[in-house]
Amino acid sequence: MQINKSKSLFEKAQDFIPGGVNSPVRAFRAVGGNPIFIERAEGAHIYDADGNSYIELINSWGPMILGHNHPMIKEAVIKAMENGTSFGAPTAREVEIAELITKMVPSVEKVRMVNSGTEATMSAIRVARGYTGRDKFIKMEGHYHGHGDSFLIAAGSGAITMGNPDSPGVTKGTAKDTLLAPYNDLEAIEQLISANKGEIAALILEPVPGNMGLVLPKAGYLEGLRKICDREGIVLIFDEVMTGFRLAKGGAQERFGVVPDMTTLGKIIGGGMPVGAYGGKKEIMEFVSPAGPVYQAGTLSGNPIAMAAGLAMLKHLDSNDEVYKELDAIGGKLVKGIKSSLLKYQLDFSINHVGSMYSLFFTNQEIVDFETAKQSDTAVFGKYFQAMLQRGVYLAPSQFESLFLSTALTDHLIEQILTAHEESLIQAL
Ligand code: PLP
Repeated sequence: MQINKSKSLFEKAQDFIPGGVNSPVRAFRAVGGNPIFIERAEGAHIYDADGNSYIELINSWGPMILGHNHPMIKEAVIKAMENGTSFGAPTAREVEIAELITKMVPSVEKVRMVNSGTEATMSAIRVARGYTGRDKFIKMEGHYHGHGDSFLIAAGSGAITMGNPDSPGVTKGTAKDTLLAPYNDLEAIEQLISANKGEIAALILEPVPGNMGLVLPKAGYLEGLRKICDREGIVLIFDEVMTGFRLAKGGAQERFGVVPDMTTLGKIIGGGMPVGAYGGKKEIMEFVSPAGPVYQAGTLSGNPIAMAAGLAMLKHLDSNDEVYKELDAIGGKLVKGIKSSLLKYQLDFSINHVGSMYSLFFTNQEIVDFETAKQSDTAVFGKYFQAMLQRGVYLAPSQFESLFLSTALTDHLIEQILTAHEESLIQAL
């Protein structure tokens, strides 16, 4: 496979862009080799600058749940473009998408649109602080909530991949209000609360974290958090930027039957355009300006093109229950095949899976939190990643990411992935 154009683009990119990329994991630092520069994408495939094609399991880190370049979304965007690209004033589409989100996501009674998941989580924490009059919040080790200062502490995703889970540039003053807890451990939460009684505004977590690789909540864990937060007057925030509209129409909160006070959303909600949102109980969201005193704004928030793409996506998901059955079936088939070849070669592995998300960890430990996730053999992962890429399957270039499947994955493509997987295992180990 020739990647000469990608190589020369990356060389030039490094002269003008820090590390040559606009988001760190894209640089392939954790897996070695040269990042692939993408020219276009269609369905389950992406095509690089050298004309190579790959079946890909990232789907733009989640948004492309129906596959790339879906005609319905393309049509909505093109139609919206004809009327102008930004107004900075309210539009009917914003009302329509807000109503639809409140219908689909159980915890959301009112919602504010922003431009990214990062903005959604930063704003949600500010609102929870304004609402409770408290400063501190609890965050789970290895969870990622975007690049807001107060979240870049024991952060997952690219932060752990690059070896900077605690980013320089975050002040000690900011960091002291972020309290850390291990995921899946209710006792640790109780201890943090008793040491900071009456001072904790919010507890934010990915209900099903995908940013330290995919990890599942233990039975009763999310219910336990709900009870503790109710008892202590703490705002429970589910960061469903990844899981929203993916694990079910109403996200992880629908799939696991636990309703938080606030929810942050991103990725799928924009149909591939830069969109995020935060919402929750009316009495909390009424604190957001201009209804209330907590300030949050955005020049491009509710952008008409982005709203058109998001609406097309959400309307489709809302009216097609079979999408989720289909995604579950695709995930089930792929993961079953992966497991069977791992067993065949008697390899040390751990695989976490729910619906259309999965992670394969190269360790024989059960992965239940950040500490166990970090035990994975990242060197073997890197070899496996490269071997898959050589065979035309593009995985997330880090052990500490979930993979995201789309409805564009046919049985035939799943077979191709499984063949590549088996050959890559043999090559990597
Ligand atoms: N929250 C979660 C759970 C995420 O996975 C991400 C990004 O991957 C974010 C927040 C940040 O979203 P964005 O990259 O759109 O700022």
